[in-house]
Amino acid sequence: MIDFRSDTVTKPTEEMRKAAYLAMVGDDVYGEDPTVNQLEKIAAEILGKEAALFVTSGTQGNQIAVLTHCRPGNEIILEEESHIFYYESGAVSAFAGVQTRTIKGFRGAMSPDLVEGAIRGEDQHYPETGLICLENTHNRAGGAVLPLENMKQIYDIAERHNIPVHMDGARLFNAVAATKRDVKEFTQYCDTVQICLSKGLGAPVGSILAGNKEFIQKARKWRKRLGGGLRQVGMIAAPGLVALTTMRDRLSEDHENAQLLASGLASISGIKVVNEVDTNIVVIDVSELNMNSTTFVEKLKEKEILAGTFGSNLVRFVTHFNVSTENIKRALQIITTL
Ligand SMILES: *Cc1c(COP(=O)(O)O)cnc(C)c1O
Repeated sequence: MIDFRSDTVTKPTEEMRKAAYLAMVGDDVYGEDPTVNQLEKIAAEILGKEAALFVTSGTQGNQIAVLTHCRPGNEIILEEESHIFYYESGAVSAFAGVQTRTIKGFRGAMSPDLVEGAIRGEDQHYPETGLICLENTHNRAGGAVLPLENMKQIYDIAERHNIPVHMDGARLFNAVAATKRDVKEFTQYCDTVQICLSKGLGAPVGSILAGNKEFIQKARKWRKRLGGGLRQVGMIAAPGLVALTTMRDRLSEDHENAQLLASGLASISGIKVVNEVDTNIVVIDVSELNMNSTTFVEKLKEKEILAGTFGSNLVRFVTHFNVSTENIKRALQIITTL
C-alpha cells in the first residue's frame, strides 16, 4: 500500500521506538516525568513561548486553548473551513459553550477587515468575542501557508481589541519549511499555538500547546478535567522529543514529493489539481473522469493506493516520510491507467 490519506499515518522511526523504550519516566500529574518536562521546555523554547503543555492530540490542544481563553457564551472568530470548526465534532460548543463566527478565507487566510468587522462591540444583545483562531498551514485550503503579513495584521487588530489569538499550527513546521523562516516569526503573531508531533514530524502520539506561563497553568487544569492528565507519559513524550528535534528539517522532502505528485497528476487527462501546492497536500478534482471522489478512492484502493475524499469530487493526497519519491512515481503510473 502507498498511503496518501494523511501524514498522521507515519510510523515511528527506530530512533523513536528506542527513545520510548529507554525513556526516564515519573508521574506527570505530579510534574515528575523528566522526559515530559524536557519536551515541554524544549518545545516552549523552539516556539518562542514561556511555557508548553504536552497533550494527547491536536484536537485536545485546540479545545484546551478555547476552554482556557473563553467563557461560555463567548463568540470565537475562525475561518469557515478551519479544523476547529469543520473537523472537531462540534467540540467548542459541546465543551467550551462558545458560538462560532466563521469567515470565508482566501487560501485559508481571513481578510483582516472582515475579522475586525466581526469583533463585537459593547451591547447587551451581543456575545463577547473571546478568541480569534488562525490555522497554519491550512488543511482544507490544501496545506496553504498563511502569509506572515496576514497573521500580523490580524494580530494587531486583536491586540487593539484586547482579544487573544490562538494558532492551530498542526502543520506549522510545514509552513516553516516552505518559507524557510524561523518558527518564531510565525508564533510572534499569536498568544497561543498548538503543534502536532504526530503528523509530518512522525511521532506516534501527541501535540504541544504553548503560551505564557499563566495560560499554561490554567490549560493544565483543563487538560486534567478532560482526562488528559497522564502518568508515566515520558514513554510517548520521548518519541515526541525525537520528532520535534530531528524531523523538522526533512519536511521539505515531503514538499518536493508533493510537487512531483501534483505535476504528474495535473498531466493526467481528466484530473485537475485544484490547490496551489505550498506544502505536502495535493487536492484534485476528479469530476471530468466521470466519477465521484468515493468511486475514485475505491478504484485507487484496488490498486493498493490510499487517498482520502475531500468533498464529493475532491480527493486529497498527503505526502510524508513513509512515501518515497519512488512510491510517487509508481502511484502516478498506476493512476494514469485507471
Ligand atoms: C490534524 C489536525 C488537527 C487535529 O489533530 P489530531 O491530533 O488529529 O486531533 C488540528 N488541526 C489541523 C489543522 C489538523 O490538520
